[in-house]
Amino acid sequence: MLLASRKNFPFILINNNNNFPPSSSSSSSSVTFNKIRPPPPPLSPSSTTATTTVSVLPLMAMTTNGLSSKLIRSFTRRVNSSPSATTLTTPRFRSAQRTTINTTATAILPPPPPPPRTQPSDNIDQHEQQARDSIFDFEDTKGLFSSVTTGKLIRSAANLNLAAVEPVVDLGVWVMRSRLMQVGLMREMVLGTIKHTSYEHFVAGADLEETGRTVKKLWESGLRGMLDYGLEHTVDNESCDKNALQFIKTVESTQSLPPSSVSFVVVKITAICPISLLKRVSDLLRWEYKNPTSTHLPWKLKTLPIFSESSPFYHTLQKPSPLTAEEEHDLELANQRLINICNKSIECNVPVVIDAEDTSIQPGIDYFTYSAAVMYNKGQKPLVYGTIQAYLKDAGERLLETKKAADKMGLPVGFKLVRGAYMWSESQLANSLGVESPIHNSINDTHNCYNDCASFMLDEVSNGAGGLILATHNLESGKLAALKARDLGIGKDSEKLEFASLYGMAEAMTFGLRNAGFGVSKYLPFGPVDQIMPYLLRRAEENKGLLSSSNLDRQLMMKELKRRMKAYVGQGLVETENQFKSQAGSVVKLN
Ligand SMILES: Cc1cc2nc3c(=O)[nH]c(=O)nc-3n(C[C@H](O)[C@H](O)[C@H](O)COP(=O)(O)OP(=O)(O)OC[C@H]3O[C@@H](n4cnc5c(N)ncnc54)[C@H](O)[C@@H]3O)c2cc1C
Repeated sequence: MLLASRKNFPFILINNNNNFPPSSSSSSSSVTFNKIRPPPPPLSPSSTTATTTVSVLPLMAMTTNGLSSKLIRSFTRRVNSSPSATTLTTPRFRSAQRTTINTTATAILPPPPPPPRTQPSDNIDQHEQQARDSIFDFEDTKGLFSSVTTGKLIRSAANLNLAAVEPVVDLGVWVMRSRLMQVGLMREMVLGTIKHTSYEHFVAGADLEETGRTVKKLWESGLRGMLDYGLEHTVDNESCDKNALQFIKTVESTQSLPPSSVSFVVVKITAICPISLLKRVSDLLRWEYKNPTSTHLPWKLKTLPIFSESSPFYHTLQKPSPLTAEEEHDLELANQRLINICNKSIECNVPVVIDAEDTSIQPGIDYFTYSAAVMYNKGQKPLVYGTIQAYLKDAGERLLETKKAADKMGLPVGFKLVRGAYMWSESQLANSLGVESPIHNSINDTHNCYNDCASFMLDEVSNGAGGLILATHNLESGKLAALKARDLGIGKDSEKLEFASLYGMAEAMTFGLRNAGFGVSKYLPFGPVDQIMPYLLRRAEENKGLLSSSNLDRQLMMKELKRRMKAYVGQGLVETENQFKSQAGSVVKLN
């Protein structure tokens, strides 16, 4: 059923001579996932004490061959269950991190009793907290912001402080969405103001040239860039063609930048396939999953699992009609656009990562992603990465299903793990249909799902092929993952793990992770100011208020600015003193 004939895509060129990934790895993937890792060296007092307790979490001891549906179910139950149920919590995640794994202990032990559900940072012992906190050194703001000029620091602090004043942001957002933007002079004035405030802060440049300069600066400061051409949804083939060309140019632009300074090029399927078609494909895929024997999708390429039993299916209540000849043709065109982008990425040796959107079209996006992964991912390093949104109740189960299927096929898979950005619209749709929301019932469940998925993938990539992008501004998730990655020996050089945050956000965490020895990328949206407006509106909402995620950045930036000012004044005083002394000396000499 899953095997679609490539006859339907006569023009698809599969480049078997790709130079990505490097030839050292073999596509037959002699990956031995079921190797038992030796215990990690104790890193902290907590890890030393914990080695006396053998509590092997099934998930952590999971091997590729051992990924049974029972485990998938138990993982999902833990991820999905209510706080009082057996959800895999952070404390349990921690105990798994410090587990001594021996060959006999890999038998699946019953999970320990569930601890009370709290914020991830609560209920953890002092040693554990110290171990986590030791990952980042936020006390040393000099070391943290060493690569940031004072001018940039002042501008960033000013922008973030402004973004924290809710009435100012509300007014700005209102103006940006209002009819005033249709009045010539007013529009110019607003765009001019935005350009010198939030645009400058959150956007890497208006075009590839400006963005290239930003990449070089980041590279010099020990960071990499993920190039994201700011495109929104498309409705027709003509704009899809234009967008595909922009993505190809973006991939090409990496050739003129320092090698490895660009970690990924971001691709949005919604920019290369008309939205209406993505909806139709998603409907048909949903229907096929639920009615496998009575549904035939002749256009379907070989792909990886897109759904799990717990996925939302309420978008497709009736049997959808098959794709028309015209729709099939449009689908072929969209596939070809993605193939052209992938071929260019092989040529330029830069992987692509595909963004996730809302559940009404995500099956279609995953279909494109995974069919391209089947064609292009070889050896150890994936060329095409997909995105998993941990706020979805089915995220953990789907991740396992997809990984398991990819392992069976011998393909390396790569995932960008995010929490998810469409919470409001997802809940609203589910509400309007009177069905259960696909989003976790509480933010704690989302945190736990994120951390569990990250933990699972870290184990998987440390044992074999594949890649993981941890895209988050959440400090607790960053600390947990960094601690675990350090235990597993996954550092910057392994190229299996990349932490990622949006340009202009989570700067303290970014520099903290860099200083701790991890690969860190900034997600770099670029494009002209009016085109990037929807993105800026989302950032304005996200950074609004004193309790927003940029709070830590603001505090640490202000602390560093004060330190620099004191050092400057202090140095000035010393210089004046020295000058005075030398003048006094010369007077003495003269005398
Ligand atoms: C590099 C990068 C790439 C990204 N790419 C994508 C993408 O492709 N697709 C996409 O959808 N998003 C994407 N995002 C945005 C991301 O999904 C989040 O919106 C954003 O990063 C905030 O999440 P956080 O991990 O930083 O955590 P936090 O700021 O700690 O958590 C906020 C998130 O928690 C979740 N949440 C909040 N309240 C609740 C609740 N009551 N119940 C359940 N969950 C709740 C929501 O997802 C919310 O965004 C990306 C983010 C980054 C940094």
